[in-house]
Amino acid sequence: MSVEIADPLSLARRLDAEDPLRGFRERFVIADPRLVYLDGNSLGRLPLRTAELVRETVESGWGEDLVRGWNGGWIDLPQRLGAKVARLIGAGEDEVIFADSTSVDFFKLAMATLEARPGRKKLVTDDMNFPSDLYLLQGCARLAGEVEIVVVPSEDGVSLDPERIEAELDGGTALLALSHVTFKSGWIHDLGRLSRSAREVGALTLWDLGHSAGSIPVDLQRCGADLAVGCSYKYLNGGPGAPAFLYVRQELQESLRSPIQGWFGQRDPFDFALEYRPAPGIGRFLAGTPPVLSMVAVEPGVDLLLEAGMECIREKSLRQTELLIGLWDDRLRPLGVALNSPRDPARRGSHVSLGHPEGLRIARALVEEMALIPDFRRPDNIRLGVAALYNTFEEVVEGIERIRRVIEERIYERYPVEMNGVT
Ligand SMILES: *Cc1c(COP(=O)(O)O)cnc(C)c1O
Repeated sequence: MSVEIADPLSLARRLDAEDPLRGFRERFVIADPRLVYLDGNSLGRLPLRTAELVRETVESGWGEDLVRGWNGGWIDLPQRLGAKVARLIGAGEDEVIFADSTSVDFFKLAMATLEARPGRKKLVTDDMNFPSDLYLLQGCARLAGEVEIVVVPSEDGVSLDPERIEAELDGGTALLALSHVTFKSGWIHDLGRLSRSAREVGALTLWDLGHSAGSIPVDLQRCGADLAVGCSYKYLNGGPGAPAFLYVRQELQESLRSPIQGWFGQRDPFDFALEYRPAPGIGRFLAGTPPVLSMVAVEPGVDLLLEAGMECIREKSLRQTELLIGLWDDRLRPLGVALNSPRDPARRGSHVSLGHPEGLRIARALVEEMALIPDFRRPDNIRLGVAALYNTFEEVVEGIERIRRVIEERIYERYPVEMNGVT
């Protein structure tokens, strides 16, 4: 790569021309062709088919069918979509269901675990986890009482040796809860090894797939994962605030109960009985009425991923992050930009964090005047996500070039240091 990097644009164009996934970009709305969008790990792009399907659902579903729409397919959406996503994450079709947000699903599964493991008082996680997951664990501890949360620290904020996590697992541990791919550095935890280690001491594992579903191959069954949650608005391209999914390993389903006992998780919601009896299987983790309009919007994005195949997506994504890191080394490192993501491709998800003390203002300048959308994660991370379904190699080269200009020409100095709104 170092030979060809002298002319990165021709290299990128060649890689784009040879890319077996190149046709997928056309199946998304690209409103502004100049915009380099490297934030698909925060909100994925809109598939063309989704725009159509949402319009159909509003106009003929809601507009004409009215309440009859429930029997025309809406009622089974949580299961049907769950069965599709199951194929992306190596789960059985009866092990995944769509409901609520990732945060709420995480809470349901963590509380269910504590209830099912009354003698165990320890929850283990790490400090690279998504903060919401830590807040939720703290909330569970508050409700369950006498629960200890152990947060294993990463030495460098980028990676974490599995042995350090294993050292905290013991006969008192109820749950090991980790993000499969961490949101800042993109570190991939060894899901198989840690699931096995937890099982050896009788603890359950709860994996947050927020940054791994749709970006890297996940094989929950083969890895022996017990529980998982994930969101569908990132690499699944399900739209802003799209509902989340949850996974419970088949053999565990009957032994766990949701702390939110709503009528959709009841054995027969329409018998209107006054006593709650949990539905058999994964359905017991539903709570209330599914948000149909946002749920129908999830399917086309999932279909695109299934059509492309996760192996193929991973191969392209790795080439793209390799290229990105090669260009960082060559063009940005000399300007004082750090690499805050793993070098080892086997341990790196589909986003790369670049660190600079002026990261926040650089990110602002990129969005405001360089038509490049990354995102920013404190303290200094400019996060660049590649979504292999629609990001081109040329965009990767263009993205690095725009960052270089903003730093070299000090364009960021025009922007204030405070943060505003969603970054
Ligand atoms: C995005 C993300 C979430 C989001 O949770 P919501 O409840 O959908 O807001 C949770 N966990 C991880 C790891 C994420 O990346």
